[in-house]
Amino acid sequence: MRMIRSGKFTGKKILLLDKEPKTKNDRTWCFWEKENGFFDEVVYRKWDRVSFLSNEFSSAMNITPYQYKMIRGIDFYQYCFTEIAKQNSIEMVYADVKKWEYEKDDLLLRLNDREFRLFATGTHIFNSIYKPGEQNKKSIRLLQHFKGWLIETAKPSFDPAQATIMDFRMHQQHGTTFAYVLPFSATSALVEYTLFTKELLPPEEYDKELGNYIHSFLGIDEYTVQEQEFGVIPMTNEKFSFAGNGWQIGTAGGQTKASSGYTFQFIQKQSQQVVDYLITGKNLNYLPAAPKRFRFYDNTLLYILYHNKLAGDKIFTQLFKKNKPRQVLRFLDNESSVKDELKIISSLPTLPFLKAALRQL
Ligand SMILES: Cc1cc2nc3c(=O)[nH]c(=O)nc-3n(C[C@H](O)[C@H](O)[C@H](O)COP(=O)(O)OP(=O)(O)OC[C@H]3O[C@@H](n4cnc5c(N)ncnc54)[C@H](O)[C@@H]3O)c2cc1C
Repeated sequence: MRMIRSGKFTGKKILLLDKEPKTKNDRTWCFWEKENGFFDEVVYRKWDRVSFLSNEFSSAMNITPYQYKMIRGIDFYQYCFTEIAKQNSIEMVYADVKKWEYEKDDLLLRLNDREFRLFATGTHIFNSIYKPGEQNKKSIRLLQHFKGWLIETAKPSFDPAQATIMDFRMHQQHGTTFAYVLPFSATSALVEYTLFTKELLPPEEYDKELGNYIHSFLGIDEYTVQEQEFGVIPMTNEKFSFAGNGWQIGTAGGQTKASSGYTFQFIQKQSQQVVDYLITGKNLNYLPAAPKRFRFYDNTLLYILYHNKLAGDKIFTQLFKKNKPRQVLRFLDNESSVKDELKIISSLPTLPFLKAALRQL
């Protein structure tokens, strides 16, 4: 989409491959940004106020100049593929990509049912097929897994002007567990039950916990479930690199923030950089990555959660209790200053973080 909108790729041949057409509303993306964004036309809802809740601390926070935005997967896919279909130079092929390799001057792309032979010179491959890396004894792999219900209530039950980004009041027996609530109207909201743990739960457990949360914490008993969503996002200290066999993008290229699972905005930033580099003819090998210190912070938090050194609900409570929401959002965006980071780090329990940080060095 960024290539198309730049107008600089007209006539360049682009082969777009995916296993199957994107016809399902298979995910809901939330993220925050300050101004109008590249995909604002498909933003389904946005909120200036968000709340954080835990047993120790609760706050409704005005996050301006940020807005917390939500895009429905299906709207995003329709919007992008309608635009893509208008481009004569983009060919869309649905197939399972098996592998690609170089043969002299050619690039051989093997799909389940056919092969493509392309000129290697001047051809770029961008790959978003994520395969977990090899595990070693220092590997940490947590899963962020969640189930969401889009519910319609009999009576007005939500404040459409305010989303709940984290509600930790629920039990923490499985590990770091919270709910979030994205209200679309007074009678409709997407309610998601989320965990950061090593293993998934049995399927019926998510439904049970969602039902409990809606009853006990939202105080709602009369409702119908309109849609459901389930997702798993890897949270890992695995090393990702952009350059490999092709250029690695998206989650496969390390754009998932290991300590939060947020990915959407990191993908947007990286995509824009890639397009800018291609337009100006810069070498993609020099594409800047996020400063290494953010990876260090992420890995430190992952270590703490993975080894149960501190409970996740306590850490996030301290984070939101002791810092301004805008500072926290900037920090989670990898855009904070070192000064801000020192303040944020000092708001967290020193000893466990110090010990975990030393393990990362
Ligand atoms: C349910 C869900 C909700 C999420 N919500 C948020 C959120 O609120 N905020 C946020 O920031 N992030 C969120 N994420 C994380 C992240 O933003 C998404 O996973 C995002 O879609 C990642 O983009 P991607 O391009 O890396 O991978 P994908 O969107 O998964 O794209 C990879 C593509 O590769 C295709 N593919 C895979 N293997 C092959 C193959 N062998 N051959 C051909 N094609 C193949 C797949 O079909 C897919 O289309 C969510 C993830 C999920 C699963």
